[in-house]
Amino acid sequence: MYQKTLNIATKAVQAGYNPKNAEARVPSIIQSTTYKFDTAEQIADVFDLKDTAHIYSRISNPTVQCLEEKITSLEGGSGSLALSSGHAAVSTVIFNLCSSGDHFVSAKSLYGGTINLFAQTLKKFNIEVTFVDQDASIEEIQKAIRPNTKLIFAESLTNPGMEVLDFEKFSKLTQQNKLPLVIDNTFPTPILCRPFEHGANVIVHSTTKFIDGHATSLGGVIVDGGNFDWGNGNFPDFTEPDPSYHGISYWAEFKETAFVAKARTQILRDLGACLSPFNAFMTYHGCQTLALRMEKHSENTLALAKYLESNSKVEWVKYAALESSEYYKLSKKYLPNGASGVLAFGYNGDIEQTKTFINKLKLANIVVHVGDIRTSVVHPASMTHRQLNQKQLKEINITANMIRVSVGIEHIDDIIADFKQAL
Ligand SMILES: *Cc1c(COP(=O)(O)O)cnc(C)c1O
Repeated sequence: MYQKTLNIATKAVQAGYNPKNAEARVPSIIQSTTYKFDTAEQIADVFDLKDTAHIYSRISNPTVQCLEEKITSLEGGSGSLALSSGHAAVSTVIFNLCSSGDHFVSAKSLYGGTINLFAQTLKKFNIEVTFVDQDASIEEIQKAIRPNTKLIFAESLTNPGMEVLDFEKFSKLTQQNKLPLVIDNTFPTPILCRPFEHGANVIVHSTTKFIDGHATSLGGVIVDGGNFDWGNGNFPDFTEPDPSYHGISYWAEFKETAFVAKARTQILRDLGACLSPFNAFMTYHGCQTLALRMEKHSENTLALAKYLESNSKVEWVKYAALESSEYYKLSKKYLPNGASGVLAFGYNGDIEQTKTFINKLKLANIVVHVGDIRTSVVHPASMTHRQLNQKQLKEINITANMIRVSVGIEHIDDIIADFKQAL
């Protein structure tokens, strides 16, 4: 039986599944879509949310639940909801908080796909975003907040800029405006960054990245901090009766798990982006070694960052744990045990020379991914962020010579040797 007081590395290994006498040691893949009940009354109680038994695997599933409980334990939240991808997790969070006519504020340094979702797709649902510079003053960011603002969103460690969020500033802002702070904690993972301890109210992850860690399974998760007052008057969807559930009020019924309860029973039920039991199984197994891997990813990335900094073919290196980084102080405060496994650097050349360089890498593969145990590289301007125009690229500091490296857990000498031969 795991306890709250155990170290996070122990929770990564043990939490989420506790077999009873003579049961399987590891969670089984329960592929069944449905569950059998003895009486009509028993199943009716589940439909009325009086009983939490599994009823249909779109809404919950025993294998998926093991993963959810492991992540809840790692983040120190009150509950979790797993979804089919990181994007499903992010969009479910937004739909759980915003209706047509609502507005939210987001830091502008984001995963490219999140920028598209916020700026283009949500606009079609009449949900409006204002992007802010996360390094602007609190007064400047405050100006973006309106009466219909429902949340503030930011990444703890940004992709691909490697900027560290000033949690103190953002949590002050959300508290003074009675808004939830939603943090995408994909890059540092709960091993390296503890958003709930720094004022976050909801955490989202693309588990596709480091949590799975082996590039086998798409997935996402939402974690409820259980630390937000949904009854503060700004969130009628949490306090008013829901006609689709016999007039239930999520805040009155579920209190500290109201956020994930509503996300599951309204948004997941209706939009249907559930995680498959097989992907949950793979992600659960990957996650068991998360603490070990994050330590190694961070150590290797810092060593490669220092090597690149010393090479004349390299114009600049961005990695928050480098003393030369403008985020070094914030990284010591919020990422004390390592700055994760991704760095960015500028190759000393134009866009064509930059592409030629990455084509020469052998061990490091060109793969549109981060967080894998294998080292990989991308060229954001021509790959992950190519949908953005020149102005948008400039705004989030993506240059034509920028290369993003996701540093794996291979031996560091071999990783450095590969970059050395290509440079
Ligand atoms: C990849 C990623 C996402 C989207 O996740 P998918 O699992 O690919 O849908 C969201 N946020 C961040 C920071 C990411 O790196």
